[in-house]
Amino acid sequence: MIRFSKVNKWYGEYHALTDVTEQVSKGEVVVLCGPSGSGKSTLIRTVNRLEEIQGGEIFLEGRNVHSKGLDINQFRTRVGFVFQSFNLFPHMSAIDNVCLAPVKVSGETKAAAREKGMALLDRVGLAHKADSYPQQLSGGQQQRVAIARALAMEPPVMLFDEPTSALDPEMVGEVLNVMKSLAKEGMTMMCVTHEMNFAREVADHVWFMDQGQLIETDKPDAFFSNPRSERAKRFLSDLRSH
Ligand code: ADP
Ligand code: MG
Repeated sequence: MIRFSKVNKWYGEYHALTDVTEQVSKGEVVVLCGPSGSGKSTLIRTVNRLEEIQGGEIFLEGRNVHSKGLDINQFRTRVGFVFQSFNLFPHMSAIDNVCLAPVKVSGETKAAAREKGMALLDRVGLAHKADSYPQQLSGGQQQRVAIARALAMEPPVMLFDEPTSALDPEMVGEVLNVMKSLAKEGMTMMCVTHEMNFAREVADHVWFMDQGQLIETDKPDAFFSNPRSERAKRFLSDLRSH
């Protein structure tokens, strides 16, 4: 579904990604972890071309993401992206946030988009909040609307960049539960998260990054019980001592 081949990225002089080569199969859930500044956000942002790369290639469903001819707006509808901050449009209700792209980008009728949007809000447990505005919703609810909005374009791939990091602790679970149900339904997902219980329970593979390199990838059981690199060992022991 996604294939990284010798991906290199620089921010000016700074080498942010070095020779990242790995792949994500259809229906697979990958959790990306690693110290702050290791390149996790940069890597997942290259997948929907929020970041350009200077070397290597990335393929999504066989399409070269960074080729010149790519229609970027059309392409981005194929990749759902959920950030740390929810980025809902504040002047629009939950359902209008969810329906916006299907109507504006895909040209769906308002009625059709609304029906599908209501089903998506129901799926994230928020059908009863369809007409609420973002400021009337809790952080966890806003993030669930953001997930529904990303799903509205029926993307085959979902990217999550620390979707629970800005939430009060009591709201983390409701967002992780939505992500878990998506994973169970077979969505292909790349998730940057510090929620290691989520990784253990849901991930098919954990990717560990440090200093712009993909240091190791493994099944969660193996990664958590027996990390191979010194850097991963240190990362996990730091994590546990917090
Ligand atoms: P992570 O998500 O793992 O914390 P990032 O991918 O955000 O790491 O950042 C990786 C490195 O690239 C960091 O050293 C960061 O300072 C640098 N970086 C990220 N974005 C930019 C940018 N827009 N310009 C310059 N440097 C950046
Ligand atoms: Mg980050």
